[in-house]
Amino acid sequence: MMDREIILRVEDIHKSYGETEVLKGVSFDVRRGETKVFIGPSGTGKSTLLRCINQLTVPDSGRIWLNDEEVTHAGPRINQFRQKIGMVFQNFNLFDHLTAIGNIEVALIRVKGMNKAAAKEKALFELRQVGLSDKADAYPAELSGGQAQRLSIARALAMDPEVILFDEPTSSLDPELTREVLEVMKRLAREGMTMLVVTHEMGFALSVANEILFMEHGRVCEQGSPSEIQTSPLFTRTRQFLGTFQDD
Ligand code: ADP
Repeated sequence: MMDREIILRVEDIHKSYGETEVLKGVSFDVRRGETKVFIGPSGTGKSTLLRCINQLTVPDSGRIWLNDEEVTHAGPRINQFRQKIGMVFQNFNLFDHLTAIGNIEVALIRVKGMNKAAAKEKALFELRQVGLSDKADAYPAELSGGQAQRLSIARALAMDPEVILFDEPTSSLDPELTREVLEVMKRLAREGMTMLVVTHEMGFALSVANEILFMEHGRVCEQGSPSEIQTSPLFTRTRQFLGTFQDD
C-alpha cells in the first residue's frame, strides 16, 4: 500500500463554530485503494472533517488536494470535485419522490450529462453491485434502512468517484441491516475503492482498515494499522467504551 500514489492530501484543517474550535489542525494523506477508518467519541469533529473534504463545510484554514489539484478555494469548480469525492450519509439523503433507479439516474443525467438510456443502464449496473436489482422501482419509503443505505452507496458509485466518504453509514441501522451494509463496504474495499469511513464499528475497522485514526477534541491523537492499534491503551479504552458495537 505504501508504494501506491497519494490521491488525497488533507493539510492542517482548522474549523471553528463560534468560539468552539472543532478541528484543530488535522493532516493526513490517502493512497489509492486505501481504507482509513476514523474512530472517537461523538463531537470530536469526525463528521466535520469529512464535510470539509468535499467542502460541504468550508474549513477556516488548511488545504485539501485531490490528485494534485486543490479542492479548497476551487470556487465553482467544486462541483467537479464533488463528483470525484462521493459521500454516504448516516440518514441516506435520498430523494423521497424518486424511485431507487431514479435516485441514481438523476445525478447521471443532470451532473454527468448522460442521456436517459445510458443513465438507466448505468443505474441498473450499480443497483446490481449492491444487490438491489429487484428494488429498482421501489421508493425510498418502501426500502429497509439497509436497502436505503445500499442505494445511497450505489448512487455514490455511479459517479465513478476517486474516493468515497462514509459518515457513520450504519449508525441508524439495527445490527442485521448494519451487517448487509458493512458487507457491501467490505467488498468495495477489497475491490480497491478508496474510502474514508467514520464509524463505531470496531470489527469493521479492524478487518478492513489499512489505517485507523482516533480523533479526540478535534485532533487525530493516534493512528496506525489495525495490528499496531490493537496493542495501544487508547484502543483498549475505546473498545470498552464502544462495548456492544465492536462485532459486526
Ligand atoms: P463527530 O462527527 O465526531 O460526532 P461533529 O463533527 O459532528 O463530531 O461535531 C463536532 C462539534 O461541532 C460538535 O460539538 C457539534 O455540535 C459542532 N457542530 C457541527 N456542525 C455544526 C454546525 N453546523 N454549527 C455549529 N456547530 C456545529
